[in-house]
Amino acid sequence: MADTAESIAPIAVSRIVREGTAVKFCLPAGRYKNQLLETESVIIPMRNFHGDRWFTLCVSSQVGCRMGCTFCQTGMMGLLSNLTSGQILQQLRTARELLRADATDGLPIPDIRNIVFMGMGEPLDNFDAVTQAISAMAAPGEFNIPLSRITVSTVGRVDGIRKLSAMNWPTLRLAVSLTAATDSLRNELMPINKAVPLAQLRQALLDYPRTGRTRFLIEYVMLKDVNDSPADAEALARWCEALPVTVNLIPYNPQNPARFAPSESETTVAFLTHLRKLGILAKRRATIGQPLMAACGQLGNPALRRG
Ligand code: SF4
Repeated sequence: MADTAESIAPIAVSRIVREGTAVKFCLPAGRYKNQLLETESVIIPMRNFHGDRWFTLCVSSQVGCRMGCTFCQTGMMGLLSNLTSGQILQQLRTARELLRADATDGLPIPDIRNIVFMGMGEPLDNFDAVTQAISAMAAPGEFNIPLSRITVSTVGRVDGIRKLSAMNWPTLRLAVSLTAATDSLRNELMPINKAVPLAQLRQALLDYPRTGRTRFLIEYVMLKDVNDSPADAEALARWCEALPVTVNLIPYNPQNPARFAPSESETTVAFLTHLRKLGILAKRRATIGQPLMAACGQLGNPALRRG
């Protein structure tokens, strides 16, 4: 069963940080070497051109992560725990409770409309719990969030992508954290690339079943003088060729000590423009919650990092 009686019991929020209307919250998730483990989640406010409001919830699938991406705060922690499907679902329940508690009397409560597995962890490294949680989210009943509003973000676990293909969920959104489009650079930044080079990752996406309108989201963290040159944009455009993708340029949010620096704003704009000229649908993500350590790759309790 995807959910357990134990997980349905209310769990106290162990930490909560608010930044405007963005909220990061942590739930206890056991202990490791006498230290409290926590899930970390972020409720992100969204608004469209018509003024409609809703929220996206970024959930964790693990505490820490063993993928070791060199620009990622969570990667520095190593893998401390896989979350159960109940612990993943509890993040959604808690987010809804927090929104209800914040609601202004008489006004409709904006709901969690989208789920993104972009918090701590590599979701496809905890495949069974994550897919059980997705099934429960999408089922009629408590959550009712269609697969088309759930995004799984992977660093490129091709075995996991192929297992996900076999689930026959063609409307589920898939995001790939790419950040480098040549094997030499990606080998340096993301160790998984040594085992699963870019060509294999690309082929897994080409083979992935999807409905006509579903595009893959390609996440690209902008690192100053590392991956932000015109040649890098050209390599990225070549890798994306024939794939139905939207490229999302993500500002890097350094913590101390930081090995990398964020790309300059003008460099990011030039990179974006170059990509678009090369025919790639691309956008630049505004970072909400940077001071909360809650932007992409920025989750993770600093006290638990390997350093
Ligand atoms: S970027 Fe994702 S996969 Fe890589 S270490 Fe961070 S959490 Fe893990």
